[in-house]
Amino acid sequence: MTAPTPYSLFANENPYPPLPSVRELLHTEAARVNRYPDRHAVALTEALARRFDVPAGHLALGAGSVGVALHLLHSALGTGGGDVVFAWPSFEAYPHLTRVCGGDPVPVPLDGHRHDLDALADAVTARTRVVFICNPNNPTGTVVGRGELERFLARIPERVLVVLDEAYREFVRDADISDGIELYRDRPNLVVLRTFSKAYGLAGLRVGFAVAHEPVAAGVRGAAVPFGVGSLAQAAAVASLRAEDELTERVAALVEERERVRDGLLAAGCEVPPSEANFLWLPLGGRTTAFAEACAARGVRVRAFDGEGARVTVGEPAANAVVVRVAADFAG
Ligand code: PMP
Repeated sequence: MTAPTPYSLFANENPYPPLPSVRELLHTEAARVNRYPDRHAVALTEALARRFDVPAGHLALGAGSVGVALHLLHSALGTGGGDVVFAWPSFEAYPHLTRVCGGDPVPVPLDGHRHDLDALADAVTARTRVVFICNPNNPTGTVVGRGELERFLARIPERVLVVLDEAYREFVRDADISDGIELYRDRPNLVVLRTFSKAYGLAGLRVGFAVAHEPVAAGVRGAAVPFGVGSLAQAAAVASLRAEDELTERVAALVEERERVRDGLLAAGCEVPPSEANFLWLPLGGRTTAFAEACAARGVRVRAFDGEGARVTVGEPAANAVVVRVAADFAG
């Protein structure tokens, strides 16, 4: 008997390999890695400024959006520390990055599988420096609607930075979900985080960015590691913006697959909240670890949050089919 193919539905990666045009460029750039990258990533900054219609001074780049978030927290917390408020469960990096930067994490439980925006606003005190809103939320895939987000933002004092983490924005299809890059324009305390790791399929190269008004963006740039975005990452990101139509088709296929897999899981008797990201959340509680082990035994690695649920990336159809089969066995 042959061993099952090991698939990873663990890290919300894009299952598609880099586009041929991107791969070709990486090959060319590889011959020049004895040189440092452009320290200010001018070509990528200009391409992003054009793509999102924002001034170049409103952009800050880093090694993935997690790298940008680290610089942002360093800049916002300085040497004085302070509270960083976020929903929980949400992206695992928030408490870690907060502690690394000398801050105190303030997790606020989700309401069901969604952000509890009233409770988040209530958790803001004189000690609060930053609030993260992960939209869509990792790991539950749920979203915060435009109206409720605008009401929430109106409740947050201007001295507190609100970081809208839109790592999965390109997978959103719900028309009621605001685009952070529109919302930030008249809000000096709103920061939007985006990444090339998910929809653009460049997770291994590490490149992400923040969009914010000048003083905030300048603070993030000031806290950044010099030469923090490598030359291959810069080149691939520029090429990906050029090839956005092709990438958009892949994202559309993943969104279709997301709905197909969710329908399969629902038919198998699972609870699966609607997702606007490239993953699905199965709130299996005490059965989570057993479910993840059953998937692993069939060659598919999923992300288990012990006692809470499993997060399953929408990946290759063959891998997704295994998850649906395991779920059906579980429900049975
Ligand atoms: N934000 C969220 C919500 C994520 O899920 C992730 C990756 N898992 C990131 C940010 C970081 O992505 P990257 O550093 O690769 O840009």
